[in-house]
Amino acid sequence: MTLPRKDLFHLPEGMIYLDGNSLGPLPKSVDGALSAMVTDQWGAHLIKGWNVDDWMGQPMRVGNLVGKLVGAPEGSVTMGDTLSVKVYQALSAAVQMRPDRKVILSDSGNFPSDLYMAQGLIAQLGQGHELRIVDPFDVMDSITDEVAAVMITQVDYRSGRMHDMATLTAKARDAGAVMIWDLAHSAGAVPVDLQGCGCEFAVGCTYKYLNGGPGAPAFIYVRPDVVEGIKPALSGWLGHDVPFAFDLDYRPAMGIERMRIGTPPVLQLAALEAALDVWDGIEMEDIRSTSIRLTELFISEVEARCPELTLFSPRDGTQRGSQVSFAHDNAFAVMQSLIERDVIGDFRAPNLIRFGFTPLYIDEDDVLGAVAILADVLDNRIWDDPKYMTKGRVT
Ligand SMILES: *Cc1c(COP(=O)(O)O)cnc(C)c1O
Repeated sequence: MTLPRKDLFHLPEGMIYLDGNSLGPLPKSVDGALSAMVTDQWGAHLIKGWNVDDWMGQPMRVGNLVGKLVGAPEGSVTMGDTLSVKVYQALSAAVQMRPDRKVILSDSGNFPSDLYMAQGLIAQLGQGHELRIVDPFDVMDSITDEVAAVMITQVDYRSGRMHDMATLTAKARDAGAVMIWDLAHSAGAVPVDLQGCGCEFAVGCTYKYLNGGPGAPAFIYVRPDVVEGIKPALSGWLGHDVPFAFDLDYRPAMGIERMRIGTPPVLQLAALEAALDVWDGIEMEDIRSTSIRLTELFISEVEARCPELTLFSPRDGTQRGSQVSFAHDNAFAVMQSLIERDVIGDFRAPNLIRFGFTPLYIDEDDVLGAVAILADVLDNRIWDDPKYMTKGRVT
């Protein structure tokens, strides 16, 4: 199928949306499916919906759809909660698998929530674990036999720099460490082969490149041969083997279902399930090659027309995810003035403007249009206005 597929999305007229790496736009398949679900299932069936509409099976059903996009075998992915919670679950299970080791290895390019969850877990365990945060370029050499778990986000949220999953996972395996991949900026952006790389855990969110909408649930993958050994730290009733036996004692469900916790977000999962329709007939390799073409065009045009900006992302397309960042001393104001002109990207502290490229609905005309407006904002110092300097709660 040829890209882009703009016809599948609601995209506001005149807007160039380069922020699908933060929040994907609304697929047209979602509004109808969601309102039908609300009316015909929740409205008409009420509590019977858990059985007649199989709301209870939704986390596994949607998990299989997401799993296909990241190379996970059938039945190895489940949905629910937020990514931060799924990070906690994966990490707590990973350290439990290596009781003799006390180091959790991560890098300074990781998203802070992942690091915060590790810090919280370590404090809670009180067993003397250490979170070792190294430079992204030093991860490989830091995987030693002290390391219990390596917890890495494949694509750096600021620079877009991408780790090589196969190589790092092999190194972790050789060192006897458990590997956890965070695919927040990978799922739906770059080809991922979970089964091939052999990592024990992977987690990710679905409101970024998978267009599941604000608050869409996260996913978790556990390698099928290790899942039965995990005693879940967040042992909720829906991860129990027989939730409706209402036993007083927890006993984990078989397989990946033990990573479920409580009641699934049924409406959000319905929205996500419909949103995943846009991937029908799309090859992730086509997404990747188009993304590299678009980001290369963007970089070369920006460098030709906006000398004030400094490329912060890797120049080599194969080393980047699907986003590009540039540094500027007044990055916040520059981005605010772009947003006012309907070119949507985001600002990342301290000095980055960041743009996501999503081949499903972004094409070369969008890239050229965005660069023209960016050049205008810089050449005419349009950003240099107090109205572009006020920060909201979300930047
Ligand atoms: C977006 C993102 C998160 C966000 O976590 P939530 O719990 O969904 O808010 C966490 N980690 C990484 C690496 C991210 O990119």
